[in-house]
Amino acid sequence: MSKAAPITMTPQGLNVPNFPIIPHIIGDGSGPDIWRAAKRVIDAAVSAAYGDTCAIEWMEVLAGQKAFDTVGTWLPNETVEAFRKYLIGIKGPLTTPVGGGIRSLNVALRQGLDLYCCVRPVRYFNGIETPVKDPSLVDMVIFRENTEDIYAGIEFKEGSKDAAVFYEWLSQTYPDRAGKVRFPNTSGFGIKPVSKEGTERLVRSAIQYAIETGRTSVTLVHKGNIMKFTEGGFRDWGYELAKREFGAEPIGKGPWCRLPNGIVIKDCICDAFLQEILIHPKDHSVVATLNLNGDYCSDALAAQVGGIGIAPGANINYKTGHAVFEATHGTAPALANLDKANPCSFLLSAEMMLRYMGWVEAADRIVAAIEGAIADKTVTADLAEMIPGSTAVSTSKFGDALIAHLK
Ligand code: NAD
Repeated sequence: MSKAAPITMTPQGLNVPNFPIIPHIIGDGSGPDIWRAAKRVIDAAVSAAYGDTCAIEWMEVLAGQKAFDTVGTWLPNETVEAFRKYLIGIKGPLTTPVGGGIRSLNVALRQGLDLYCCVRPVRYFNGIETPVKDPSLVDMVIFRENTEDIYAGIEFKEGSKDAAVFYEWLSQTYPDRAGKVRFPNTSGFGIKPVSKEGTERLVRSAIQYAIETGRTSVTLVHKGNIMKFTEGGFRDWGYELAKREFGAEPIGKGPWCRLPNGIVIKDCICDAFLQEILIHPKDHSVVATLNLNGDYCSDALAAQVGGIGIAPGANINYKTGHAVFEATHGTAPALANLDKANPCSFLLSAEMMLRYMGWVEAADRIVAAIEGAIADKTVTADLAEMIPGSTAVSTSKFGDALIAHLK
């Protein structure tokens, strides 16, 4: 009889059996090349850490081009339901369908499972050449709100009947505010919902993460000086939550405050934060921010460590336990089936997944293997361009090198 079992959520947290069933999406383009190498590395890391007492029971589910070609739909219900049932899953990059159909498969999955935290760790791997002087000072984990803000998709197209109806309503109801629209006849409009509930669950997760992982601070990044009731609300609700739920006390006159265990809760206006990460990266550890700011900050920070192609990510609902881990790059179609793509973004997402499951020893081994391969200068072509004196190898050879470093 198979020992495989689903991961479940209990009042005490995740219950991970020794042989958990994990749904995975292989992904389009270079996804299959990456999956073949990455699966071998993940399984080998688990085996190196736990022998034959634990193993992942992979369950392929369809999405993207492969799903469309096989069952005629880009995101079959079975796929969303599998992620719902088994709680934790991982996905490769997906082709975004052009011209109709679903707007973004990633957004559909996030919304379907209410994955409100987008978690992006940003760290430096020794040996990679980057645009900044000392990239090793960057070690941050971004918690980007994933369900609100201008990404809610409430927009009215310039010149449309909807835009006219919306502007008419605004003029009737709030004439003073309508008067601020400089060119009403040629404006598109967007609505930016930011709620106290949405902010609190995101900031709560960021603070809890900081506590559990021994981080030194949480920076609330916002643009509250201009957007007072959305971004300013985010900052105020974040501070209030830190005081109410975590016992934070103001530092001096505030608004910065400190948790009883020493973690500092502070805030920074987003434009200043983009300077801060270059000038004082050591001052920021966990970052909690809104959807759009998070988008900008994640890429800026990833570029600082030279890791835009290897940056991992996770979309998590800490309340239900649902989590989808993902390579953050696209399908790299030019590299498809050439055995050339870099599997690190997918692997580091798997590393986050293992850590989230509590399989820390296996996660640590994956990080150590990547550090080892980079130190040996045996890497895929994209990384070789950033590592002077290195040798470019195929995806599968890189997988072999990583497995050799696990032992
Ligand atoms: P891309 O990330 O696929 O490629 C951008 C550049 O990075 C290319 O030069 C590519 O060769 C390189 N690259 C990306 N991943 C790499 C890897 N693992 N190893 C080596 N080099 C890598 O972005 P794009 O070209 O804008 O998008 C291609 C497709 O991917 C589109 O259909 C897009 O919608 C989709 N996409 C999906 C996701 C996702 O599923 N998370 C994210 C972004 C884009």
